[in-house]
Amino acid sequence: LLGDTIGANFDRTVGAHPGRDALIEHHTGRRWTYAEMAAEVDAVALGLHGRGVRKGDRVGIWAPNCAEWTFTQYATAKLGAILVNINPAYRVHELEYVLEQAGVSTLIATPAFKTSDYAAMIEQVRPRCPGLERVLLIGGEDWNAMVAEGREADPAVLREIAATLTMDDPINIQYTSGTTGFPKGATLSHHNILNNGFFVGELCRYTEQDRICIPVPFYHCFGMVMGNLAATTHGACMVIPAPSFDPAATLEAVAAHGCTSLYGVPTMFIAELNDPALESADLSTLRTGIMAGSPCPVEVMKQVIERMGMHEVTICYGMTETSPVSTQTRFDDSLDRRVATVGRVHPHLEVKIVDPATGITVPRGEPGELCTRGYSVMLGYWEQPDKTAEVIDAARWMHTGDLAVMDADGYVSITGRIKDMVIRGGENIYPREIEEFLYTHPDIVDAQVIGVPDAKYGEELMAWVKLREGAPELTAEKLREFCTGRLAHYKIPRYVHVVDSFPMTVTGKVRKVEMRERAVEILG
Ligand code: ATP
Ligand code: MG
Repeated sequence: LLGDTIGANFDRTVGAHPGRDALIEHHTGRRWTYAEMAAEVDAVALGLHGRGVRKGDRVGIWAPNCAEWTFTQYATAKLGAILVNINPAYRVHELEYVLEQAGVSTLIATPAFKTSDYAAMIEQVRPRCPGLERVLLIGGEDWNAMVAEGREADPAVLREIAATLTMDDPINIQYTSGTTGFPKGATLSHHNILNNGFFVGELCRYTEQDRICIPVPFYHCFGMVMGNLAATTHGACMVIPAPSFDPAATLEAVAAHGCTSLYGVPTMFIAELNDPALESADLSTLRTGIMAGSPCPVEVMKQVIERMGMHEVTICYGMTETSPVSTQTRFDDSLDRRVATVGRVHPHLEVKIVDPATGITVPRGEPGELCTRGYSVMLGYWEQPDKTAEVIDAARWMHTGDLAVMDADGYVSITGRIKDMVIRGGENIYPREIEEFLYTHPDIVDAQVIGVPDAKYGEELMAWVKLREGAPELTAEKLREFCTGRLAHYKIPRYVHVVDSFPMTVTGKVRKVEMRERAVEILG
């Protein structure tokens, strides 16, 4: 395990590879070597320090992916300030909640993005957030002045601060995706996320030769830990294809910068595989990548390997509360296991599968709740000790709320969330299994299955499907015919709903809670 703080580790990488590319913004053409990035990081750190930011202060960042996001990430780590990741999709109500809940005193934000005026939204909440002392709009006059002051400041200040930091200090509050309810703020230390990023990078076999294309949001652990920290612990280069996800821009960035690794949640890879740009883009440099965040369909994994050439692609499983990764597939696992499991437990961590009712470990091969323990478990939910106690037990096991099976060799398969499991006429049904099957239908590009209330069976299955362009109409009868004889009768969806898109979180996860609410309306 690394015993560093994030700042010390970053400086070590800079010392080892000063001239190598560190960060590229594909959409603007801006780029920085490690030495150049270090200069920006230190300027932001000293600039913020000059404005009064101190160890333990909460610095909010509310912006889509951009270089300044990354500079701020490392700058706050060097100050020992706690970075509060704020979802760029939030609007005034949610912004106000996070600013208040985390006690943010400095807010760094994009002035505007797409059609949203962030500056105006901040002005709206400001009178109601007395703790918010300063707002810096990226690229604005005040931001530029702050960075310029930082460039002139005495760098010895950062060395003095570094001596006061320890690896167990809180460094980051990351809100969960809000897939199952209101997001919770996981408080994480240097030790938590630096090591998780490092081991993710180890399992991807990163070196300073790698270039990682990161279309997943920085505000989420997938971007800032599995992306940025995996890169900087290995001297690899981070490539930002666009401020927010765009399949064509992502493929273009891979080709333009010779990326060796590409990240995404399954829906992003599905979009790339269905984008016309896939045929013309030269993806020959791709070696590895990570699919994670929600169930990774076998079909999609196979296509990513075959059509995108990501022969070493890995699947990670984890959650914000555990820094995030707990299990990962390895490049030398058998192909079957690489496409159909989430791999084995990560180095230095423990995983067990328990009966949620009794807490007793179930026999291998039987489903139960996945629990994890080790360096990666968060310090707790920020100022919510009661919520923390609900998920971390006295023996420090994190109870994930995910259902999983572990085979005799330790490979884990996620069968779904406890909250998403459907109980139809007394049978436990894991939507994941049916979704996997629906992907084999030639006209279906994406499928999500939920349980809807039913007078006779308690719950019935409803499939929401996205069809290939130009596909013929798909009725419930036709789909049931396709399933008959290949799925047990009780697993065949009763209802089918054809959609163009699913309700999603910004991290690209399907919000089944919302699907269930809408389904009730649809079915009247
Ligand atoms: P919230 O906790 O606010 O409801 P969330 O759980 O989606 O939202 P995250 O911490 O971003 O917030 O996501 C972690 C969850 O994502 C895991 O608990 C698991 O359900 C799901 N997940 C992550 N990786 C995988 C994977 N490879 N396969 C299946 N599910 C995954
Ligand atoms: Mg969660």
